[in-house]
Amino acid sequence: MPQTSEILSRLKQAVDDKGFITDNTAMEPFLREERGTYFGAALAVLRPNSTEEVAAIVKICAETKTPIFPQGGNTGLAGGAVPWEDGKGIVLSLSRMNRVRDIDPIDFSITAEAGCILADIQKAAEAVDRLYPLSLGAEGTCQIGGNISTNAGGIAVLRYGNTRSLVLGIEAVLPDGRIWHGLRALRKDNTGYDLKQLFIGGEGTLGIITAATLRLFPMPKQIETAFLALSRVEDVMALFSRARQASGDQLTAFELLSRFGIDMAMKHVGVTDPIAAQYPWYVLMEMSSSEANGGIKESLERFLADSMEAGLVKDGVIAASSNQARDLWRIREGLVEAQKYEGGSVKHDISVPVSKVATFITRAGEAIERHVPGIRPNAFGHVGDGNIHYNIHQPVEGEKAAFLKLQPDLNRIVHDIAVGLNGSISAEHGIGRLKRDELAHYKEPIEIELMRRVKHALDPDGIMNPGKILAP
Ligand code: FAD
Ligand code: ZN
Repeated sequence: MPQTSEILSRLKQAVDDKGFITDNTAMEPFLREERGTYFGAALAVLRPNSTEEVAAIVKICAETKTPIFPQGGNTGLAGGAVPWEDGKGIVLSLSRMNRVRDIDPIDFSITAEAGCILADIQKAAEAVDRLYPLSLGAEGTCQIGGNISTNAGGIAVLRYGNTRSLVLGIEAVLPDGRIWHGLRALRKDNTGYDLKQLFIGGEGTLGIITAATLRLFPMPKQIETAFLALSRVEDVMALFSRARQASGDQLTAFELLSRFGIDMAMKHVGVTDPIAAQYPWYVLMEMSSSEANGGIKESLERFLADSMEAGLVKDGVIAASSNQARDLWRIREGLVEAQKYEGGSVKHDISVPVSKVATFITRAGEAIERHVPGIRPNAFGHVGDGNIHYNIHQPVEGEKAAFLKLQPDLNRIVHDIAVGLNGSISAEHGIGRLKRDELAHYKEPIEIELMRRVKHALDPDGIMNPGKILAP
């Protein structure tokens, strides 16, 4: 095997000056995950500027069996993009590959390099009166390549699907350094196995996505937002099914919030509760239409009146302006931000069939309270997709460190309940390093075996993001 110094000098030649970092301070942001959970080490950070440079780097790594840790915006929450602590591999950051290669309003498609920031893709689409619907809290930082590799979800999945349904084609560098030119803008293409699906949600373990062709949609011209108060979590799903029936395809978002979440957001990030009285549960819903006067305000008002009459909704407001709508969304974003000021917390990203959301919340609430009296669950999220971010905060009194030691027990309790309801332990954030052992615990052996075979077929030497999703 070649010496490290020889590998580094070959890698240095594969990129320009801006593309090769070995200085510890300059490498640090690439080695650390945002939440601070993981802090790894690397021989170097490579920042290629083209697909050919990516291919050259991967070839060198394949020949020298050097592990590669692909990285986008590094906003992932599962430890997927950061290297291990042993420092034996390189980080390959796509951040310089941020060009839009093509945008076609007639095809309703955009082809962009993997390092494009999500918000920039949204803007590029908007400039030609089209919508790229993926939207999430990290959109100012996360990248298209990262979104695809995690099959990101977010707030508009209900109407537009998750990233998987937005990808038409990809270009990728395989673990042996060859380039796969799979950029196609076809809606119909039944020519054998749909190989791009392996890379979507592959978390960088099967290859490096260098570009993608993505699906665009008509730009909404009217958006209506409502904030509704409920007295029972059991009513949430009945309300959702009514909303869907009443609005057809125009329901874009249906988010659940709890009183505890709103209190946290009010206390720590200064948002305002638009409803005077207090209720245990809230729904933030959005409808949109590509027609300027699509009549959705009227259907939303009718829906609200009917739901109040049926006793499902106790009180509610419909935003009178886009500023007021923004304030309502600010509550939803604020409760995520506020969590870090509320002591130790253990976070989960589960999904269950939509009809089982209330069952999950009730069962999990009872079970964790039995385990730790006074524990404070903050259940919120994209309940229209059955996706609940089930984050549990420590009791008001008590030690943070002691509480965090309970994480494995709490994971087991929460995940057992989700899986018992035919749910998933990771709805949208992926497996990475964080949930690798949970995955092994819950997935059927036959599925793990098939995943291992796919991994081995594409990456026989195991150099591509080793140890993520599957143990080596
Ligand atoms: P990274 O974190 O850099 O990487 C994620 C994974 O993809 C890693 O395994 C990495 O190795 C791999 N990878 C990255 N780029 C490539 C590439 N080009 N080729 C191959 N592999 C690659 N996620 C949601 O799904 N829904 C949400 O609503 C949501 N909200 C969030 C809110 C906040 C405030 C934050 C901080 C995160 C949120 N996330 C959410 C998580 C995160 O933003 C998404 O997972 C996002 O898709 C990650 O993109 P990234 O570019 O940051 O990827
Ligand atoms: Zn989410």
